[in-house]
Amino acid sequence: MAILKVLKYPDPFLKIKAKPVEKIDETIVKITQDMLETMYADTGVGLAATQAGFNLRIFVIDCSETHDHPVVFINPEITEKIEEIDSEEGCLSFPGIYANVRRARKVTIQALNTQGQLFTETYTGLEARCVQHELDHLNGIVFLDYLAPIKRKMLEKKMQKMQKKVL
Ligand SMILES: [Zn+2]
Repeated sequence: MAILKVLKYPDPFLKIKAKPVEKIDETIVKITQDMLETMYADTGVGLAATQAGFNLRIFVIDCSETHDHPVVFINPEITEKIEEIDSEEGCLSFPGIYANVRRARKVTIQALNTQGQLFTETYTGLEARCVQHELDHLNGIVFLDYLAPIKRKMLEKKMQKMQKKVL
């Protein structure tokens, strides 16, 4: 396994709409393993393939406190969304940036696992938020896209300043 480089905003790759996975082979399985390792190394709860530079509809999550419940979603589709709730979230592509985003409280999602089997899962709480956030990445949407322009500008400036410090 290998730790991948996570692309940081405003990398243009974060704006692409990812392509469906056509065949789940060894290469795809290896990518999902690397994505999980990268997510754990970065202490994230989710990572989308586009964040790691892959034009593929794949994301991984692990919202457990014990970091031992990884779930891989290949070609995911949300089939039901129930109610809406505001909550703060962050993103590995926006280090140090957090913002309140309104999302469905409960979602049902369908995807393929690494064995190519279709599964359906219903999530609430952090998991529901996480799968919506990651699926957005596969459609080129980032969480700042939900914010009012003024708030968005402010956070973009904050991020630029922090990046300067790191460099
Ligand atoms: Zn993200």
